[in-house]
Amino acid sequence: MAGEKGFTLWFTGLSGAGKTTISRLLEGHLRERGSKLEILDGDVVRENLSKGLGFSKEDRDTNIRRIAFVADLLSRNGVPVIAAAISPYAEIRSEARELMGDRFVEVYVKASVNTCAERDVKGLYKKAFAGEIKEFTGVSDPYEAPENPEVVCDTEDETPEESAEKLLAYLEQRELVPASVAATV
Ligand code: ADP
Repeated sequence: MAGEKGFTLWFTGLSGAGKTTISRLLEGHLRERGSKLEILDGDVVRENLSKGLGFSKEDRDTNIRRIAFVADLLSRNGVPVIAAAISPYAEIRSEARELMGDRFVEVYVKASVNTCAERDVKGLYKKAFAGEIKEFTGVSDPYEAPENPEVVCDTEDETPEESAEKLLAYLEQRELVPASVAATV
């Protein structure tokens, strides 16, 4: 995809809401079209770029600012980015938006605490409800839902594939990715 446009899809949502699942599906679609997409997944970032940071507000803010910094470097050089971290605080998400301007696309990956706890992909909700994990977002730590996200993926109502298709359609409509071959014939 020569001359590809840079943008950052900034996913925000509770643990287990579907950020990683949807980002991997969308990655497949974009790579098929030759995209140089990079994913900054919260869990992966915490194992390297943010290794050693904890879950206090200060450490969470530092983690998100680092992700925003890298997303900005990549996206301003034409590399599309999906940032997929919980990013619970609205103020830091606003900072990321200010940094990236038009390149920033906020995506609310929406599912209730109950749904995420039922899915309990990593068994973390069980531990959080038992008081074994402190500062767990949605249980014992705040989550500030976005007020005006560009896209909402309601994962209680849509399948992961539907969410990925919705995001692809949004990117096409904004002309951030070329329209699919099927759509142009
Ligand atoms: P996160 O990255 O937000 O922590 P994950 O993608 O790791 O969340 O986990 C979401 C879980 O929910 C996965 O096991 C996925 O299969 C499941 N799931 C069920 N329905 C959906 C949906 N509509 N969209 C995304 N994930 C879904």
